[in-house]
Amino acid sequence: MAAAVAGPEIERLIQLLARLPGLGPRSARRAALHLIKKREALMTPLSAALQVAIDKIQVCKTCGNIDTQNPCTVCTDPRRDPSIIVVVADVADLWALERANATNGLYHVLGATLSPLDGVGPQDLTIDALVARAHDPRVSALHHRPPAGRRCQGNEACPRRTGRRRARLSR
Ligand SMILES: [Zn+2]
Repeated sequence: MAAAVAGPEIERLIQLLARLPGLGPRSARRAALHLIKKREALMTPLSAALQVAIDKIQVCKTCGNIDTQNPCTVCTDPRRDPSIIVVVADVADLWALERANATNGLYHVLGATLSPLDGVGPQDLTIDALVARAHDPRVSALHHRPPAGRRCQGNEACPRRTGRRRARLSR
């Protein structure tokens, strides 16, 4: 094991950064050094932004999106088509579809990955909630995402043809 080159506070920062997706120990060390060098311009505002996020981020009680308002920005957008619900596995899928402008419908997040953020477990985002939403008379169609591997990645545009499959509701 390599010897520590900094005090425990900085080593702790590096260890935490290394837990972020896409960052290994080397890139975490590089990111930590960058933050330290840009303490006023980057590290301080980042710390403040993290604290605000900790305080304000909520899981939308309607769709499961993550936002600072509840219901979320998507659910309260009057330009959305309430007859369509796009069912996604995870908030990352929702955000990818939004970046790609793939739909003007509403969403339903099934994901179990929300719990680490604020203690909301999969039991809060069950199929039962989706079924209840699907019975809203305004809803005429559910769409679901294709399996993993065909999802939008990063800033990649998500082609409409692969983004959704139409599934009529049976009542
Ligand atoms: Zn919402």
